[in-house]
Amino acid sequence: MTDLTSLTLAEARDGLAKKSFTSIELTDAHLKAMEAARALNAFVLETPDRARDMAREADDGLARGERKPLAGIPLGIKDLFATKGFRTTACSKILDNFIPTYESTITSQLWRDGAVMLGKLNNDEFAMGSSNETSCFGPVANPWRRGSSNATLVPGGSSGGSAAAVAALLCMGATATDTGGSIRQPAAFTATVGIKPTYGRCSRWGVVAFGSSLDQAGPIARTVRDAAILLRSMAGHDPKDTTSVDVGVPDYEAAVGRSLKGMKIGIPKEYRMDGMPAEIEKLWEAGAAWLKAAGCEMVEISLPHTKYALPAYYIVAPAEASSNLARYDGVRYGLRENGRSIGELYENTRAAGFGAEVRRRVMIGTYVLSAGYYDAYYLRAQKVRTLIKKDFEDCFATGVQAILTPATPSAAFGQGEKGSADPIEMYLNDIFTVPANMAGVPGIAVPAGKDAQGLPLGLQLIGRPFDEETLFSLGEVIEQAAGRFTPPIWW
Ligand code: GLN
Repeated sequence: MTDLTSLTLAEARDGLAKKSFTSIELTDAHLKAMEAARALNAFVLETPDRARDMAREADDGLARGERKPLAGIPLGIKDLFATKGFRTTACSKILDNFIPTYESTITSQLWRDGAVMLGKLNNDEFAMGSSNETSCFGPVANPWRRGSSNATLVPGGSSGGSAAAVAALLCMGATATDTGGSIRQPAAFTATVGIKPTYGRCSRWGVVAFGSSLDQAGPIARTVRDAAILLRSMAGHDPKDTTSVDVGVPDYEAAVGRSLKGMKIGIPKEYRMDGMPAEIEKLWEAGAAWLKAAGCEMVEISLPHTKYALPAYYIVAPAEASSNLARYDGVRYGLRENGRSIGELYENTRAAGFGAEVRRRVMIGTYVLSAGYYDAYYLRAQKVRTLIKKDFEDCFATGVQAILTPATPSAAFGQGEKGSADPIEMYLNDIFTVPANMAGVPGIAVPAGKDAQGLPLGLQLIGRPFDEETLFSLGEVIEQAAGRFTPPIWW
């Protein structure tokens, strides 16, 4: 039998339906791979007993002829999603041993559809970061390495565990979240597919909040088709999230393979950044050529406020984070460090529980929201945000159906290589992904090639609100042309 971990989710689904193997076999194969890959530090909690229980249940259902869309498929869950009875920490010391008494809407929909939980995946603390180096459980290693070098590279962040686990064939797909690029950037760094859906497409209920007006969950998967299958289960209206939108969930998988004839695709001139590596430029041109060959009309467009997106994001996101993180006070959840007064208890708990990057964001956020600075920073950033959103609206109003850009300004970098002297070095990684969050529009990252050192590079497609289908159709064309990439096993 071929190694079951090398199947795509779609292949595994079909194999299970045909009874070529059982979910227990598929699940055990992944649990074994996880055990052998502990050096990657992708999982922060393994739940083998739960996985086998769920797999047995799926096998029973399959035997009865049940047809659940994800029956028996083993998945990994980012540790930002509340899982009832299973430790959920957002990879922060402050949540300590928090065990939720409730399940996030997204994960409950995955279990409703028959999926199997393998465990919880590592991420940057509270999803703040681009390298998975801020996690209280330590960094995640990217399964990819540069040429013959043994240096450990970052998998991107904040969904670094999700991307590394999917790339290393430890799970068939994973949940992830994206506030400024945390699905798409790690996907690009690991040759996996990641989609940030339209804001409001997936429920935020039970997902640890970072920047609530920007946060959106989505899948990381091995192929475009697999991402489409997962999104269908994850998406949907949820009355428990007031920003969740009541729009029907289409059959995303049906969009894979749809004709692109006559589709108008924009190439934004503002994404041609100074100092961008020639390899990224070349990759972008190749992507445009593949879409053109598939029948698309490529047009140059302008998104004039692009250069303000990153600075505005780094005001809005910390502002919302400082407000969201106020709840971690040592009284209700997780860690508590006592003090002589309630004020001291708060201070001691927060000083001991939050890592350096989270503390930085809380301080920046509190500052930009404070009386006297609010108008100069927060309010101005919100106005810029409106202009960024309008850029996209103006462009889509001309008939452009999607926008093609690079996913990241570089390939994966080394652990400890960025951000220690100047945090802005790390923030610059989000330059191509942040605008979609500011505008609330969907974006997908698809593997498109490799750099000279053999590291994967991704392209991004940005779409119209609630038109994820077009992104899947376009993404698959790039995937077909570029091929799929799997890292050699060294762990
Ligand atoms: N890297 C970005 C940040 O640190 C985005 C993180 C995310 O999307 N969660 O804010």
